[in-house]
Amino acid sequence: MLKKLPQVRGRYTENAPLARLTTIKVGGPADVMFEPVDLADLQVFLKGLPEDIPYIVIGEGSNLMLRDGGIRGVVIRMDKALNDVQVNGLEITAGAGATGGKVARAAREHSLKGAEFLCGIPGSVGGALKMNAGAYGHETVDILKEVQIVTQKGELQTLSPKALNFAYRHSELPKGALFVGATFKLEQGDKEEIRNRMREINKNRATSQPLNMPSSGSWFKNVMLEDGTKKHAWQVVSEAGCRGMRVGDAQVSVKHCNFFVNLGEATAKDMQTLTEHVEAQVLERLGVQLEREVRFVGED
Ligand SMILES: Cc1cc2nc3c(=O)[nH]c(=O)nc-3n(C[C@H](O)[C@H](O)[C@H](O)COP(=O)(O)OP(=O)(O)OC[C@H]3O[C@@H](n4cnc5c(N)ncnc54)[C@H](O)[C@@H]3O)c2cc1C
Repeated sequence: MLKKLPQVRGRYTENAPLARLTTIKVGGPADVMFEPVDLADLQVFLKGLPEDIPYIVIGEGSNLMLRDGGIRGVVIRMDKALNDVQVNGLEITAGAGATGGKVARAAREHSLKGAEFLCGIPGSVGGALKMNAGAYGHETVDILKEVQIVTQKGELQTLSPKALNFAYRHSELPKGALFVGATFKLEQGDKEEIRNRMREINKNRATSQPLNMPSSGSWFKNVMLEDGTKKHAWQVVSEAGCRGMRVGDAQVSVKHCNFFVNLGEATAKDMQTLTEHVEAQVLERLGVQLEREVRFVGED
């Protein structure tokens, strides 16, 4: 088991349950969960971590499907420490552990427009950067000025978005590096208009998504067909007849069939099996190979 170094101040939790830290509420524990008290603590931790111990970050756990066997190594959780949001003119600087909602609300309070889409995406800034989260025609990279990362050796660096190959629900960090913050560049706007846009987004989501059930948002990425046309993943899943398909307590939502929901007692295994059934049925009936948006991590 990983020994806590005396110079590290944050909390180590052994055999840490993680299912409750995800929005879909499945999955096994982490060997160790580390929660740094601040950025310097995270840097010291990474510097001292033996090279053979793997680690990942968990943000708000809204895009993670943790397998039932849990995570070998360390899960780093930074939402209690690196969650500051500061507004400076047209720019907002946020810690990777802050929620996107906090950024959107700070922007609204300062009449800055461009971050409204983040209000309905239930993740952290770090998760939004990693996934290039987006909605309603906007992506995180669109409002990004620069990011702060910590390398595997614990060094702090500032990078421009160009260095990270942002694409649809995708970005690339140097091996072993983590996002610790970002600076967003917004435009002056009208506070009432921004407020109304955020209300509209939240209303649309409540109407079209099963927000009263544990889920991870869009399960599959939207599809590019062979003829170059784009299709929403929910249309493909629906056309293949998978709406409402169920394995144990894992179900393809009836309300929005690119959402997989946990009806109560689903295991990660149920989610995995359901995913494979849907992928197979879509391939067989429509000839389309779905790509997963939700990140499957950990051991069976
Ligand atoms: C109801 C619902 C609606 C959703 N709607 C949308 C939507 O409209 N658009 C959209 O894009 N997504 C949507 N999602 C998915 C999800 O909210 C986003 O992908 C979100 O950005 C994930 O952030 P997170 O903090 O929860 O990341 P997590 O799920 O905790 O992690 C996701 C990935 O990011 C990595 N990661 C997290 N933090 C860091 C960091 N600091 N440094 C390096 N890597 C990190 C993790 O290791 C993991 O690989 C939705 C989810 C739900 C439950």
